[in-house]
Amino acid sequence: MPDQTPMKTIAKIAVPAPLFGLFDYKISQQQQLSITPGCRVKIPFGRKSVTGVVVQTASHSDFPDSRLKAIEQLIDETPVLSAELLKLLEWAAGYYQHPLGDVIATALPKLLRQGLPPEVKGDTVWQLTEQGKTTTADELGRAPRQASLLTLLQQDRAALNSEQLNALSENWRPAMQGLVKKRLVETRELPCLMLADAARQPAPALNIEQQAAVAAVSQLFDQFHSFLLQGITGSGKTEVYLALVEQMIERGKQVLILVPEISLTPQLTRRFQQRLTVPIAAMHSGLNDRQRLCAWSMARENRTQVVIGTRSALFMPMPELGLIIIDEEHDGSLKQQEGFRYHARDLALVRARNNNIPILLGSATPSLETLNNANRGQYQQLHLTQRASNARPPRIHVLDVCRRPLEDGISDILLAQIQQHLKQDGQILLFLNRRGYAPLLMCHACGWTTDCPRCDAHMTLHHHSQRLQCHHCGHERAAPEQCPECSAEELYIPGAGTERIEQALNRHFPDTLISRIDRDTTRRKGALHDKLEQARTGEAKILIGTQMLAKGHDFPNVTLVGILDTDQGLFSADFRGTEHMAQLIVQVAGRAGRATKPGEVFIQTHHPEHPLLQTLLNQGYEGFARAALAERQTAQFPPFAYMTVLRCAAPQKQSSMQFLHDARSLLARLPTTGVEIFGPLPAPMERRAGRFRAQLILQSTERKALHNLLNQWVPQLSKLKMANRVRWSVDIDPQNMY
Ligand code: ADP
Ligand code: ZN
Ligand code: ZN
Repeated sequence: MPDQTPMKTIAKIAVPAPLFGLFDYKISQQQQLSITPGCRVKIPFGRKSVTGVVVQTASHSDFPDSRLKAIEQLIDETPVLSAELLKLLEWAAGYYQHPLGDVIATALPKLLRQGLPPEVKGDTVWQLTEQGKTTTADELGRAPRQASLLTLLQQDRAALNSEQLNALSENWRPAMQGLVKKRLVETRELPCLMLADAARQPAPALNIEQQAAVAAVSQLFDQFHSFLLQGITGSGKTEVYLALVEQMIERGKQVLILVPEISLTPQLTRRFQQRLTVPIAAMHSGLNDRQRLCAWSMARENRTQVVIGTRSALFMPMPELGLIIIDEEHDGSLKQQEGFRYHARDLALVRARNNNIPILLGSATPSLETLNNANRGQYQQLHLTQRASNARPPRIHVLDVCRRPLEDGISDILLAQIQQHLKQDGQILLFLNRRGYAPLLMCHACGWTTDCPRCDAHMTLHHHSQRLQCHHCGHERAAPEQCPECSAEELYIPGAGTERIEQALNRHFPDTLISRIDRDTTRRKGALHDKLEQARTGEAKILIGTQMLAKGHDFPNVTLVGILDTDQGLFSADFRGTEHMAQLIVQVAGRAGRATKPGEVFIQTHHPEHPLLQTLLNQGYEGFARAALAERQTAQFPPFAYMTVLRCAAPQKQSSMQFLHDARSLLARLPTTGVEIFGPLPAPMERRAGRFRAQLILQSTERKALHNLLNQWVPQLSKLKMANRVRWSVDIDPQNMY
């Protein structure tokens, strides 16, 4: 029977540019049979030739034939984007109101965007065949070198690469070739995967709560179902992940694990390597472009069953995907804050639903969004309430620092505590989310302060370099010795950052190893790793750190935690300020007393009576979350409303406001029923890096109403008169209101 469907002569192509819409190109007769959605093509675009991705094929274009250009070259025989991923990306482009071409560019490794082939060759690894696994070394009696190599491989190693073999054995190649010839060993190309660790660690026996959590998920392995695993720090969430991953591997399935911070992945991946027998793809910023592409193609060919990575690993091609795990689901870094502003957790839920597979969100301090979904019955809640290994929860004290001597930011009480814990051979972790020496310099005589010329912000004093630095725009200059306004000689240095705390403690405890962990001390490659190692082993007795220290690290020796400044979070301009502060306190406090030593936590504040702080201390994170959710509901803030921000920045305040006013005028002709509009209003920090920033907020209790409006409104924004003269962006479900 002849095919009656009309010929697909038109390809609708997404180009890697911030332009809405797909572009029509002619498909040649030759290309007819092989071109399918998800394939890359070379096309003429403007005056350049670019790599685009075919999204649809059609038999008709709205443009006359004479205006259509032909596809120069079809790059792929098989699509680089599976139908599954293409569907997810199309959905994301629609939901986040972002051009599909740019969305696809975010999802593809750079070398694929440049048109390179997806297959990568690299290092070889040697591994046992089935026959090799059952052959004993004795059977190779007459070839002792082969026998010893076989024994090496049988010692619980999944596979060895040449580097590892060189370390273990001299001149191993001839013997290895012999084993390959005898079909006891086979080679594989695995240049980018982390191989299972030789030092295998047996899994601990799971406690009852862990067992219940694992059972609940594995019961629903073959369908879409969302779980929230809420477990205090150290309660063994990672063990639950590991048990589920093992089960999935057993079933021949793939698992995707998203983690928030790269500093967190080495420890986590190591634990996976020590437990699992399969190679793992770890997607982190340390990979080069080739390794990234390699991991991508290994996942696509199901040659790695486990992918661990940060936010963008969400887009890894995984044909046998069976489970998604999001660790620390509350973490802000899961949201991309520029360009394609997606939330990896929210998109992961969509991917799980599309694939009809379970998804597990884990956290000690779930986001209010997630808790609300759990309360509404959308997510099944699993609890881990006990600390594994019998560590007791820490005791928390609030330190009212009003009218107390605060020497360089540390109260006398906390100093005494540090001394005592040092004496008892404890380890101390001090948390302060402000790097540098002091947040500003000030003149006592005239009130002059070190304002950044380009931002509504002070410049931070860095003592070591004797420079002032703006942490918002990077502007720098030498610190003045006297007041530039009135020439007074004495400048006052209020407040403290991590550098000042470090100096003060060095004075008090000159014989103690103190380690400061912030962006300034970890710039050198490998520095963070070394410092974390020093902290983990207990060699460094006092740790001072910013946010970097708050996340996921396991410091088993910490007995005392001091949170030096909580007041910023209590009085933030952002409605999520208190939520973030509470999460931080609980996460940092969770670092204390993880192993056998009970911990103590001191929170320095000028507002010990603050109701949210009190709720947090008396009723824990869950009590806090209940109260905070009730507040959000009354105020009709997310998660009880859906929000979108149109942000604008320009050198002239006038231009920013003009663009937003014009954008608002457009709304007058659109169906805004059920949508509230606020602004244009100046941003909380109005001037940043020399630009005036303002925003227009759209909010609705009905997602549909809001998105219907956005679908009509956003495409018109780029046609506004001011659109090319200002910087603007649309942020759906914004996580920060700065
Ligand atoms: P979380 O991910 O919730 O912070 P982890 O999984 O890292 O917790 O567990 C904390 C510590 O307790 C780890 O050292 C881990 O090896 C140990 N642990 C976890 N579960 C068990 C268990 N069932 N028995 C013994 N030790 C456990
Ligand atoms: Zn002065
Ligand atoms: Zn600045």
